[in-house]
Amino acid sequence: MTTTAVTNSATVRRGTGESPLLGAEALPPSGHFINGEFRAGLGAETQTIVDPCTEATICEVSQGTADDVDAAVAAALEAKTAWGRTLPKKRSEILHAIADRLAENADMLARLEAWNTGKPLMVAEDDIAGSIDSFRFMAGAARATTSLAAGEYAEDHLSVIVREPLGVVGVVTPWNYPLLMAAWKIAPILAAGNTIVLKPSEQTPLTTLKFAELVADLLPAGVFNVVTGLGPVVGARLSEHPQVDMIALTGSVNSGRAVARGAAETIKRVHLELGGKAPVVIFADADLSAAAESLRAAGYWNSGQECGAGCRVLVHESVAERFTQLLVEQVRTLVVGEPTAGADVEIGPLISKAHYDRVLNHLERAKADGAKAALGGGALEGPGYFVAPTVLTDVPEGTACTLEEIFGPVVTVETFSTEEEAITRANAVPYGLAASAWTLNPQLGHDVASRLDAGTVWINSHLVLANEMPWAGFKSSGYGRDLSAYALDDYSRTKHVMHNKAR
Ligand code: NAD
Repeated sequence: MTTTAVTNSATVRRGTGESPLLGAEALPPSGHFINGEFRAGLGAETQTIVDPCTEATICEVSQGTADDVDAAVAAALEAKTAWGRTLPKKRSEILHAIADRLAENADMLARLEAWNTGKPLMVAEDDIAGSIDSFRFMAGAARATTSLAAGEYAEDHLSVIVREPLGVVGVVTPWNYPLLMAAWKIAPILAAGNTIVLKPSEQTPLTTLKFAELVADLLPAGVFNVVTGLGPVVGARLSEHPQVDMIALTGSVNSGRAVARGAAETIKRVHLELGGKAPVVIFADADLSAAAESLRAAGYWNSGQECGAGCRVLVHESVAERFTQLLVEQVRTLVVGEPTAGADVEIGPLISKAHYDRVLNHLERAKADGAKAALGGGALEGPGYFVAPTVLTDVPEGTACTLEEIFGPVVTVETFSTEEEAITRANAVPYGLAASAWTLNPQLGHDVASRLDAGTVWINSHLVLANEMPWAGFKSSGYGRDLSAYALDDYSRTKHVMHNKAR
């Protein structure tokens, strides 16, 4: 398949500078949030927080040390017994109060998130709405847990399953959805009766710190703690800490490996939500327009910095040309810009200079490997880390851009001839987070869903999530379950208590 190159059609719509997202007074207090209050870090180092649209400094944040982590863990340990004993009803009420507090501050939180990440307001608003709903769902689920029925399974012995909190849970979050990914952890971990020490991404700590400030009066001191800083320092200490009972990380596969290694010595539980490279398998009978329209969002939402992004299209050769045309037509209409440039902006910059360079390297390498940019294919005019929404076609099978996570606004289009080939190639990546298949044949849809090696499979859709349903990867994408009642299970331990009732 050969498609004529269209080059970069996008330009960056800039804000006027007249109405900034927020004033400096909206920034959270600096320092770590430990035992219910903000305190200065024990080390002198700070991290510069940068606006990815303008490359300007927003503020400085403490770079935590192992000693800061130890202080936070001590606070979480102190709080764990009392919090673990609160009744589900009480915890539920507190989670609802947190959701209410977030809802009251939703506009400010969305603006703060957009400032720190450069993401469009429509994306930031969706993040905050999802965060609020995470707390609401877990507030309900905490009161309605299910497990095996109590009963007599050995003669004269009554078995009862007790679900207990784990204790102190260490949490490490990424930069792509800073508050949302934190909420996906905090809500079930607190609902299950645990206390938390959380390390946000060193690039995007602002909404997590703001969250701590907003909910400080709602939670007992020590139940929720935040230590900012670098992964190999703060994250590593949390992974290794002998009094942390579980470490939960959302991030890249390499960070997952590091955390699992760190946790091995103390045999602590590990919960990993890692990278993805979701295939989108489009069969010859698919509704091509619907698929292209869906990928306009699913491939490019959050500038493609999305672990479940539909970024790897495998389309039947008989419809490949038509589908690519439809996709390019859709993607060409995406509005790129700063969050201050209007409510209709859909694509923002990448998070950092380092990530921008990584994505541009990927694009250069893909072209060297024979891929063609049917749309986009490079950087957009600065300042800021903007990359054009890109569709790569004529992508040779097995090249790096089809196997490695690019994590930018880039969708690759490959073709296949047979169903068998499509499934084999869809599964031929180390990741197994998400996948979709497009066909109007329901039997084929059911069959393909069972053969795709991914924790979430959509048929005739992509990237639609529900808080009631689990989000969890297979293979190198990790082994934790976020969202749903399964997350509550992951953050709990089950104890079997047997009563001898022989008389
Ligand atoms: P990252 O792995 O670079 O960083 C994630 C977090 O891990 C950060 O807080 C970082 O400081 C920390 N970290 C880094 N090294 C560490 C170490 N040695 N020990 C402990 N912590 C360490 O990931 P990122 O670039 O922030 O986020 C993007 C990645 O996250 C992508 O791979 C993406 O697919 C993945 N992600 C997955 C999901 C999911 O639900 N599966 C969701 C969002 C993002």
